[in-house]
Amino acid sequence: MITRRMAEELDAADPLARLRDRFVIDDPGLVYLDGNSLGRLPAATADFLDAVVRDQWGTGLVRTWHTWIDWASRLGDRLAEHVLGARPGEVVLSDSTSVNLYKLAAAVLAGSPERRTIVLDAEDFPTDRYIVQGLAAERGLSVRALPSDVDAGLDLDELSAALDDDVALVVLSHASYRSGALNDMAAVNALARRAGAVVLWDLSHSAGVFPVQLHASGADLAVGCTYKYLNGGPGAPAFLYVRKELRSTLRQPIWGWFGQRDQFRMGTDYHPVDGIERFLVGTPPVLSLAAVDPALAVVEEAGVARIRDKGKRLGEFVIDLAPTGMRVASPLDSDRRGGHVTLEHPDAWRICQALGHVGVICDYREPNRLRIGPSPLYTRFVDVWDAMDRLRDLLASRAYEQWGDAPGRVT
Ligand SMILES: *Cc1c(COP(=O)(O)O)cnc(C)c1O
Repeated sequence: MITRRMAEELDAADPLARLRDRFVIDDPGLVYLDGNSLGRLPAATADFLDAVVRDQWGTGLVRTWHTWIDWASRLGDRLAEHVLGARPGEVVLSDSTSVNLYKLAAAVLAGSPERRTIVLDAEDFPTDRYIVQGLAAERGLSVRALPSDVDAGLDLDELSAALDDDVALVVLSHASYRSGALNDMAAVNALARRAGAVVLWDLSHSAGVFPVQLHASGADLAVGCTYKYLNGGPGAPAFLYVRKELRSTLRQPIWGWFGQRDQFRMGTDYHPVDGIERFLVGTPPVLSLAAVDPALAVVEEAGVARIRDKGKRLGEFVIDLAPTGMRVASPLDSDRRGGHVTLEHPDAWRICQALGHVGVICDYREPNRLRIGPSPLYTRFVDVWDAMDRLRDLLASRAYEQWGDAPGRVT
């Protein structure tokens, strides 16, 4: 029997507890367990954006471009050092995860025209699959979609068997968007390298909640969101990573002026810079980029290792408190799971809506799954306890049955 008192004790001993104050929490009764979809608003963000809007844009006008021009690379270097385990000059912020995935995948395919196959996980996030399908259709390539277990993730033997000398590119998520199952990054990179293929990682569900080690694990390419565990705000620009040694051999498909050497010479032909900026395209969304700065400062202060440590324990707490009638649809071993836990129930969508009505926000994913994402920077153990308590009450009273099962536009 786990009591609320026990949750309070865990919070009292939590070294990250004080960081909850760095976020705007204006409804203390609301339990927010969807930080894996949209992170909370950091308290420093509004003032920082206000200064950027009024002083830098309002007063500074076009003169402030001298400052703004480097932001994508500077923030990229901070992400590289504190979040992604990459070297300076290997990460930059730009576009969306989807667009970055397209740019890097297309660059790999253009560089190895003799290989005609792209490998992916059949259960991966939709945008990753669609972008691969589009690239394959455009170039007459084949897609090898590997069956994987919806809850346990991809089997390494399955992947190994699919890698032959026709495979140019492997696209995989580090943590599954649905179950949270983690892929072993170093093992996958080694397998692919042996087969002469390049892996493009999607870190959307691990960046900021797991100590990603791109360099040490031998990763070549990666992309990911900054609006989930990194709290950069809705639509914040994504990041992309290219291993330094690979950079000059890759040419991205969108030849924009932000990738151009001597950009303001306005030269006749496209000559991309040597640096990571060669993967940029056009003018960055400066206001959205600005919001990543104060958000990243909180992650840096906490340290990703400590975030991971608390994240594992929050996940275990969800699993220990999960009501009977809901099946854990995530790996039970915390070392094999990212930042969220998924629970399965035939009425999960109704339950998700009913939970929102009693002040617990999480989300629903097909099929029949409730996703619980207790972001460690601002989620307390009592929050998880309260959420599971309300969930248990809903299941017991069957009050969720009054909710419709018509799907929403956004779930
Ligand atoms: C959230 C998420 C995305 C989102 O991509 P956008 O281009 O920002 O819409 C992509 N891939 C994965 C794995 C995600 O979880």
